Amino acid sequence: MQPLHIQNSLSRKKELFEPLNAPHVGMYVCGPTVYSNVHLGNVRTFLSFDVIYRYLEFIGYKVRYVRNITDVGHLVGDAEDGEDKIGKMARLQKLEPMEIVQKYTNDFHDVMRVFNILPPSIEPTATGHIIEQISSIEKILENGYAYEVNGSIYFSVRKFSEDYPYGELSGRKIDELLSNTRDLDGQSEKKDPLDFALWKKADDSHLMRWPSPWGIGFPGWHLECSVMSTKYLGEEFDIHGGGMDLKFPHHECEIAQNIGANKTPNPVRYWIHGNMLTVNGRKMAKSEGNGFTPDELITGNHKLLERGYSPMTVRFFMLMGHYASTLDFSNEALQAAEKGLSKLTNAVEALGKLVGGEENTDFNFTALSDKCYAAMNDDFNTPILIASLFEGVKTINSAVDGRISLSSTQISNLKVLYSGFMKDVLGLVEEGSKGSAEGSEDLASNLLDLLVELRSDAKSNKDWASADRIRNTLSELGVTVKDSKDGSSWSHD
Ligand code: AMP
Ligand code: ZN
Repeated sequence: MQPLHIQNSLSRKKELFEPLNAPHVGMYVCGPTVYSNVHLGNVRTFLSFDVIYRYLEFIGYKVRYVRNITDVGHLVGDAEDGEDKIGKMARLQKLEPMEIVQKYTNDFHDVMRVFNILPPSIEPTATGHIIEQISSIEKILENGYAYEVNGSIYFSVRKFSEDYPYGELSGRKIDELLSNTRDLDGQSEKKDPLDFALWKKADDSHLMRWPSPWGIGFPGWHLECSVMSTKYLGEEFDIHGGGMDLKFPHHECEIAQNIGANKTPNPVRYWIHGNMLTVNGRKMAKSEGNGFTPDELITGNHKLLERGYSPMTVRFFMLMGHYASTLDFSNEALQAAEKGLSKLTNAVEALGKLVGGEENTDFNFTALSDKCYAAMNDDFNTPILIASLFEGVKTINSAVDGRISLSSTQISNLKVLYSGFMKDVLGLVEEGSKGSAEGSEDLASNLLDLLVELRSDAKSNKDWASADRIRNTLSELGVTVKDSKDGSSWSHD
C-alpha cells in the first residue's frame, strides 16, 4: 500500500495514514441539510471528498464511505432554539416536512450525478436513527456529561472538560470560550452558555417530533453525525470530513458526544476539512445571495456568469485548487479551466490513436507515474497531479506531431496512467458520455423530437416560414431533418 500523508485538522501536522483495519477504511462525511437546492459551494465540498474516496479505492483500500442526509434537527441560523430548517420550508411551501426532505434529496442526488460525484456506500438519514440517538443520549446522561431541564437534554461542556480536552479540533481554549461567551440571557434553560442541546422539547408549533423518555421532542443537530458514524464505522474510525465551516461547533461537539457516550478518547483518527468556495473573497452561501445552483451554472443564467460552463469544466476548475485552500470563483478561472481540460482530453484522445515506434530512451515513464502518485499521496494534492499530467502532455503531443517516437509499451503505459488518473481518480469523464451527461443526452434527444413535431405542426398549418426556420437552424447545428411518407425524423452527424 502507498504511504499516504494526510494533513490532520486535529493535530495540524502531516501524518502518515494507516487505516485501523487495513485495507478497510471507514470514512464519514457530513452530508447536506435537505431544505433547499444545493449550491456550487456545497458541490465543492462533496467533490473534494469524492476524489479522496476515489483515490483511496484506486490505490487498493476498501472504503466504507458514509455520507448522511440531515433531515431534522438543524435549526434556522444554526441556532439553539427556534424553527427547524426543514420544518420552516414545509410551512412556507405548504408541504409535509418529509416531502421537503424527498424533494431536496432528489435534487442533491441529481446534482451529484451531473458532476460525476460517486454515491457513498451508505447514506443514512437522521430521522431514520432517532432510536439510536435516544440511546446515545442515555449513555451520555449515565456517564454524567449531560443534564435534563424541562424535557430537553443539554451536554455539559464544563463537566466534560474536567475529564477530557474540549476545543482541540478548532484550537479553542475552554477558558477563553467561557470568558468570550455572553451570559445566559435569563431565557435560556441551559446551565452554561457553552452547553449544547442533545434533545429539545418540541413546542406545539414544531412539526418534526418524536416520543422519548423525556417527552415529545427532537434531536440536536450535532448528535446525528456522532450516532450514525459510530453505528456504521465503529467507536473509532479512520476519517471524518466536512466543510471547514463545520469544524466548530458541529465537529467539536461531535467529538465531545462520541467520547461522552463511549469513553473512547480518540473516536476519529483523521479529520479532513474542505475549504470554501468564495465569490469575490466571500464564502458562497445561500444567505449571502451569491450562491448559484449548478443548473444556473450550466445554462449561464445568473448575473455572476458571463456564459454557461459544462459540469466537467467546473469539476476540473475545482480540482485545480487544493481541497484545503479557499477557491475563488471567477469567469476567467472557469474559462482557463475549460481550455486546460480540452488540452488534456485532446492529448489523451490523440494518445489513443498513436502507433508505437522506436522506444524513446529520453522519456522516463516511471518518473512521470511516480510524480502523479506522489502528488496524491501528499494530502491529495490534485493541482500538483494536474501539473504532472500536463508535463506528460508535452511528450504525448511531441509524439503526435511526429517530433519524437514512443514505443508501444510506452504508449500503453501512458494510456493506463492517464485513464487511471483522469477517469478513476479525478472523475473526469467525456462530456456527453455515460456518467456525467447521460441525462443531458436524453434531454437533447427529447428536445429534438419536440422540435421536429412542432415543425410537422407548422407544415400542417401551412406555416412554411416556421417549418423552414426550424429545419435550417437544426441543419446549422448538424441535425438533419428528413421527411418521408411516414412523417419526419432527425439524425445527428
Ligand atoms: P449544508 O447543507 O449547509 O449543511 O452544507 C453542506 C456542506 O457544504 C457542508 O459540508 C458545508 O461545509 C459545505 N459548504 C457550504 N458552503 C460552502 C462553500 N461556500 N464552499 C465549500 N463548501 C461549502
Ligand atoms: Zn455532521
